[in-house]
Amino acid sequence: MPTQPVPLVVQKFGGSSVADADRIKRVARRIARERAAGNDLVVVVSAMGDTTDELLGLAAAITDDPDPRELDVLLATGEHQSATLLSMALHGLGVGAISLTGPQAGITTDGRYGRARIAGIEPRRVRAELEAGKVVIVAGFQGQSADGVDDAEITTLGRGGSDTTAVALAASLGAGRCQVFTDVKGIYTADPRLVVAARQLAVIGYEEMLELAQQGAQVMQVRAVELGWINDVEIEVLSSFEDAPGTLIREDPLVEQRNKVRGLAHDRNVAKVTLLAVPDRPGIARAVFGPLADAGVIVDMIVQNVGHDGATDISFTVPRVELARAERVLQPVVEEMGARGLTTDRTVAKVSIVGAGLHNAPGYAARMFGALADAGVNIEMISTSEVRITCVIEEGQLASALNALHGAFELEKPDPVDAQAALPRAG
Ligand code: ADP
Ligand code: ASP
Ligand code: MG
Repeated sequence: MPTQPVPLVVQKFGGSSVADADRIKRVARRIARERAAGNDLVVVVSAMGDTTDELLGLAAAITDDPDPRELDVLLATGEHQSATLLSMALHGLGVGAISLTGPQAGITTDGRYGRARIAGIEPRRVRAELEAGKVVIVAGFQGQSADGVDDAEITTLGRGGSDTTAVALAASLGAGRCQVFTDVKGIYTADPRLVVAARQLAVIGYEEMLELAQQGAQVMQVRAVELGWINDVEIEVLSSFEDAPGTLIREDPLVEQRNKVRGLAHDRNVAKVTLLAVPDRPGIARAVFGPLADAGVIVDMIVQNVGHDGATDISFTVPRVELARAERVLQPVVEEMGARGLTTDRTVAKVSIVGAGLHNAPGYAARMFGALADAGVNIEMISTSEVRITCVIEEGQLASALNALHGAFELEKPDPVDAQAALPRAG
């Protein structure tokens, strides 16, 4: 195996970290310092500020059904802007740098527009540029479909996909460090924007972080955590605005000793669909969920109510952004099966408690429901897994629900297991 002449660091800067020219220059100064310390650097950037949302808005102003291929080419340009500008900022500081698009960095995907998964990385060009002494800036959130040279297409990795670009590159290059710079100091017990008492964690295990991300904690993309776990990449999440210790996402050796809720997650990208008075007979669930699956709509929680007079209501959640598609798919299904109708609610949200110790300790569900009841929050749907309990509630009550749960599970208090581990050893 070729030995790395100098330690390699992968750093990712999110949208708020590169939101304007001044911030890009500040990131460039930070990179220059890291470079001066003797490290090789691969830097992944997101699009500037709200660029991705603005590009989506522009497309929506042109058509309500944009061609997925064109949309992905459009969205990928957001990251091209920030990568090129950061490279220029480094040149201005006398630091050798080059920006590469995802395809130029050798990132190939499974080709699914808008939600592609990285299929492989062939970082020949990245290595060559590093060897030439350059800082390599890679446009995050994108890769090219693995098809032939003639029909390869730009595909994007889903919202938050630059996190995944960074972790995948760190794994593929065997980097010694993978740092994700963002607008908070690390991973907290809940979104610090909604819960003032949220406490920063020093370490969080892959499993718990994965669950938090899956349940909506946007600070890390789900796939990034998965890739970190599979490839044993330790990910450090930290602030790009202040020099402060971040949070390490890695194997948590204390996970077995914890027997508590580790954090809360919430998700507003949820809508509830209810099919009214659906005939209660075999094959109905397939008739409903088959076409949704064929249309690529992700269905999450499903509740079938007790039937009356041969009919039953079925409720389920879908991502809010997929609600229109779900309705289009379901309208003919409802008519065909003779159901009474379909109602939707886009003002719901999910709150989850997450902890690896939940499955072997009783009482968490009761405590969660009790805390929500005391806060006057009505629970519309419930689902559980080994490591979480999730409730669908009214979106307007999200902040009070999260704060109530944070207090009820005493998340502001440090875990005694950590305090124990931090004690200096005797002798
Ligand atoms: P970036 O643009 O750097 O990728 P994101 O907006 O994607 O940043 O993610 C950072 C945001 O994630 C924070 O501003 C915070 O509001 C939110 N967030 C949600 N849950 C958490 C959590 N448990 N810990 C830290 N941040 C969280
Ligand atoms: N720019 C993309 C987004 O806003 C990717 C990212 O920021 O990670 O989702
Ligand atoms: Mg992000």
